[in-house]
Amino acid sequence: MGFRVVVFTDEAPGCPAGQEAEVEMNAGYGDAEARAKFVKQVDVVTAEFENIPAAFLAAVEKAVPVFPPPAAIEITQNREREKNFLRGAGIPCAEFRVVDSAAALEAAVAELGLPCVLKTAAFGYDGKGQRKLTGGEDLEEVWTTLGVPRGVVEAWVPFQCEVSVVAARGQDGQFVPFACVENIHTHHILDFTLAPARVPAQTSAAAVDLARRVAEALNYVGTMAVELFVLHDGTLLVNEIAPRPHNSGHYTIDACETNQFEQQLRAVTGMPLGNPAQPVPAVMVNLLGDVWYTEVNHPDWSPVLSHPRANLHLYGKKKALPGRKMGHFTVLAPTVEQAFAEARAIKEELLLRRATVVTGV
Ligand code: AMP
Repeated sequence: MGFRVVVFTDEAPGCPAGQEAEVEMNAGYGDAEARAKFVKQVDVVTAEFENIPAAFLAAVEKAVPVFPPPAAIEITQNREREKNFLRGAGIPCAEFRVVDSAAALEAAVAELGLPCVLKTAAFGYDGKGQRKLTGGEDLEEVWTTLGVPRGVVEAWVPFQCEVSVVAARGQDGQFVPFACVENIHTHHILDFTLAPARVPAQTSAAAVDLARRVAEALNYVGTMAVELFVLHDGTLLVNEIAPRPHNSGHYTIDACETNQFEQQLRAVTGMPLGNPAQPVPAVMVNLLGDVWYTEVNHPDWSPVLSHPRANLHLYGKKKALPGRKMGHFTVLAPTVEQAFAEARAIKEELLLRRATVVTGV
């Protein structure tokens, strides 16, 4: 789109975003001198992930506009604030209690019943910092192991499936959602996204409506994702809000007229939002480090590359570690079921080849 990008990161030089940027600045978020140098070079600032210290964003906002609004990022980077925000806005979510001691945890478990799940209030994603409680645990030990001052206990949700809505909201309040998509997790990490979700049209419409309410209540600007549980009776509960382009929106790169990253750029630079239409169903498969032959040896990608309607995306991360998101591929097909079947077949073939090379099976 012709923009020149400056990346500010506390990671080492050569980070994935830095590889694409005009300038990469590597400094701590507390480094005021580096921050001053950064804001002098840019017209507008956006955040690529939510765990950026609120103080840094607040200081940057004094010099240049920041989208999404730091206040929205601050709410969504912490589960306690996020849950309280949802409750305050009247948006349905799993019942929860905030806990700050083993005694509070015991009381919360007694009130919410079993099973339930204890999550850290801050810095949690992909099931990290979570513990499902089913009964018989030593709650003193559970609390000590969590090792943080505050946690959130959630009632267990017996969901039928998980969906998300990725959407963009402009500086003028225009709200442009992508389709409601279905997410299949393995070990708490997103494995497949099916676009569109295999749910009734009224469920998709209700999910989009909840995402709109979340975006408006946050006075959001940019691309965001709202993850939801679909219960067996079709009821929706919001699980999490991501204040950024989201893993479950990566399929938009290959399947939609305008993708989630372009929407983010349009929103933060004050341009009109693009057409989110998706002419053809798609399935996205996450590629975790587990598929790599070694930390630095790529798989044989031919099962993806030789498919006529599959696209491979690699993020340029230097080391492949188990569970680390290294890339993804998207398969397009006339129906979402066909895309899903072909995507699974490609993934199985990748795993089979890995097993042959690495373990000699
Ligand atoms: P989270 O990091 O909170 O999004 O949780 C990761 C995954 O754990 C979710 O996508 C669900 O599959 C599962 N999970 C989290 N919270 C609950 C809950 N309250 N009830 C049932 N499953 C949950």
